[in-house]
Amino acid sequence: MTHDPAPPVSTPANLPASRAGAGHILEPVCGLEDWLVAQGQPAWRGRAIRRWLFAGRAAAFADMTDLPKDLRPRLEADFRIWTTSIASHQRADDGTEKLLLELHDGQRIECVLLRDGERRTVCISSQVGCAMGCVFCASGLDGVIRNLTTGEIIEQLLRLARLLPADERLSHIVVMGMGEPLANLDRLLPALAVAQHPQGLGISQRRITISTVGLPPAIDRLAAENPGYHLAVSLHAADDALRTRLVPVNKAIGVEAVLAAADRYWETSGRRLTFEYVLLGGVNDSIDDAQKLVRLLAGRAALLNVIPYNPVAGLPWKEPSSESRERFLAVLGDAGVNVQVRRRKGARIDAACGQLRRLAAGATARAE
Ligand code: SAH
Repeated sequence: MTHDPAPPVSTPANLPASRAGAGHILEPVCGLEDWLVAQGQPAWRGRAIRRWLFAGRAAAFADMTDLPKDLRPRLEADFRIWTTSIASHQRADDGTEKLLLELHDGQRIECVLLRDGERRTVCISSQVGCAMGCVFCASGLDGVIRNLTTGEIIEQLLRLARLLPADERLSHIVVMGMGEPLANLDRLLPALAVAQHPQGLGISQRRITISTVGLPPAIDRLAAENPGYHLAVSLHAADDALRTRLVPVNKAIGVEAVLAAADRYWETSGRRLTFEYVLLGGVNDSIDDAQKLVRLLAGRAALLNVIPYNPVAGLPWKEPSSESRERFLAVLGDAGVNVQVRRRKGARIDAACGQLRRLAAGATARAE
C-alpha cells in the first residue's frame, strides 16, 4: 500500500514547496504578503500580523482579534508561528530562565533569559551542536548537526520575550549559545535584522553581541556588511600551542590572524572589541599565561572578559583556585589591561552552552 505524502500544511498554496522558509511566519521571506493578496486581502495586513507577533506577543493567529474572523483559520492552516516546542523551562533564583527547545526534526537547542538590573538579555543559539571542538565546551562534544534557520533563531527571541511581564522588553542579545555564529552568518544576519527592526523587536544593533571563536574571513565579511555589532572573540590562550590545544580550529588559523581580523573589524566598526578568556585551573591561568596575554593585548583598546569555567560533566577541566585566579587578574590589572570578570548566572540551571541539551540527551539515552 502506498501513502500520499502528508499535505504540506505549512506551505502557502501559491508558493513552491521548495521555497526556503515558506510557511514559517518568522522567516523574513515567508510569502505572507503574496499569500494575503491571493486571498483577496490587502498586503498591509502583513504588517499588522507582524505587529501582533513582535509587539503584541500573540501566541496564535486566533489571538489577532482585529483580523477578519475568517482569515484567522486560513492563516492557521497555511502558516506556522511556532516550529519549536518547549522541552523544558528552568528558572534560577537570580531570575535567569532557560528554555530547552525541541525543533521540528527532534533536535534540541538552548536559549537563556538573563535579568541584570534593568537589562533583559537573551543568549541565543546559532547552530545545533558546534564544529569548532573547543575541548572544554559542552556544545561541540558531538560536533555540529546543522545550522539553525533564520526563523528558528527569531523563534528563540520570541519565546524568551514571552517570559517577560507585559511592561518589560528585551534589551540586549548575545549570540553566545550553542554553535559558532560566524559559521551561520547567512541565517543569523537576517534574524538579527528582524531583532533590530522597529516593527520587529526594536533592539539597537549596539546592544547585540556576536561571540566568535575567531574565523578571519567571516569577521571580514561582517566588517564589510554589518560592522555595527559588538564583536567578542574567544581567545582562551595567548600563544598558538596552548590555543590549538584548547580551541582546535586554531591550528589552521593562528592567534596572530585572529587578532589581525579583530583589529580590522575594530577599525571598520569603531566599536571596542571584547576578548573572552575562560579560566581553566592549571591550564591557562599561570602568571606566565597572564604576562603573555598582557603582551598580546598591548596597544589594543579591548576589554578582556574573564569567564569562570562552568564545569561540564565528564570533562577533566577545573576552575582555578581563588588564589591563582586573583594572581592572574592582578598581573593583568597591574599592566592596565581592561578586565571584566563575568559573573556566573544561572549556574544551578546549567545555563552554560550545551549543558542542558546534553543532560536531557543523557537522561533520554538512559531511559531507552
Ligand atoms: N562559538 C562562539 C560562541 C560560543 S559560547 C565562540 O566560540 O565564542 C560563548 C563563550 O562561552 C565562548 O567564549 C566559549 O568558549 C565559552 N564557553 C564554552 N563552554 C564554556 C564553559 N563550560 N564554561 C565557561 N565558558 C564556556
